[in-house]
Amino acid sequence: MKTAIFEKAGSMIIEEVNKPTIQAPDDAIIKIVRACVCGSDLWSYSHGDVKEGHSVNSGHEALGIVEEVGPEVTDIHPGDFVIVPFTHGCGKCDACRAGFDGTCDNHVAPTNWGNGYQAEYLRFHYANWALIKVPGQPSDYSEDLLKSLLALADVMPTGYHAARVAPVKQGDKVVVIGDGAVGQCAVIAAKMRGASQIIMMSRHEERQKLALQLGATAVVAERGEEGIAKVREILGGGADAALECVGTESSIEQALGVLHNGGHIGYVGIPHYNNRPIGSTFAQNISFGGGSASVTTYVKNELLEAVLDGRINPGKVFTNTYDFSEINQAYQDMADRKVIKSMLIVSE
Ligand SMILES: [Zn+2]
Ligand SMILES: [Zn+2]
Repeated sequence: MKTAIFEKAGSMIIEEVNKPTIQAPDDAIIKIVRACVCGSDLWSYSHGDVKEGHSVNSGHEALGIVEEVGPEVTDIHPGDFVIVPFTHGCGKCDACRAGFDGTCDNHVAPTNWGNGYQAEYLRFHYANWALIKVPGQPSDYSEDLLKSLLALADVMPTGYHAARVAPVKQGDKVVVIGDGAVGQCAVIAAKMRGASQIIMMSRHEERQKLALQLGATAVVAERGEEGIAKVREILGGGADAALECVGTESSIEQALGVLHNGGHIGYVGIPHYNNRPIGSTFAQNISFGGGSASVTTYVKNELLEAVLDGRINPGKVFTNTYDFSEINQAYQDMADRKVIKSMLIVSE
């Protein structure tokens, strides 16, 4: 089968490898239909994170058809159309039952996080509870709906996670930091949870427009002190919640700056800073929540239904589609910020 390989920074290639096989009783083999590139894949592709050369791709979002399951997989069957999340919650431990399957107690990092999804086939471990069955088959859905279903593998639940842990509630004033796919989905989530005002901080016209279409009530292009002043002017004070969807120190600074004392930060950008002692926010009484999203919980409880009945359209974050063979272009165009998120057609 064909798989994408991280050759080196700036270079993704396709290689022929052996098709994966069932190795554990709770494995499933999935034939990938759609995959995509995540903003987090770009940390090693173009933002300087070190990743071993000629190594497995970090792709971790897909839609597919179950081809084979191990003997302990009883809830999912060959032929099922599934959303393949980046997480592998067990559904039974304390963390999963509390709705934190992104950090399942039984499947701790890194095995709780998938990779290698940019391929024709995937071995998905801990499959029984974590995979999410979609009614029917891919051919029953429009391309737009497939995009929204694919967004449920990571970015929509991740944006939702920021809003849940913040925790955004009816009437809240919310600021979203990060205009990529996760930030756009955080706007959708804030709206779902009843926020009265949602400000997207973005300097890019196309991304500002999308945020407004998805539920933002205002956009702020300024950054730093100027951006903070603009947000406070629009809200008539500080925000109740800041959803931090980037993962840099400056984005955390921005989040802290827009909140009123006693406000909440929901952070879902993978942290690329290590000098923020928790005590630094004591004087502001800030509550922090964040981490890996509870994909399976949110999708099974609420998000799949919201996509299927047309209430939310997170697929709008996929602004370009590529054939699997064009994988490097799909990465490069995202790195160049020409597209918000790249979808890959792997099979029909
Ligand atoms: Zn991701
Ligand atoms: Zn668990």
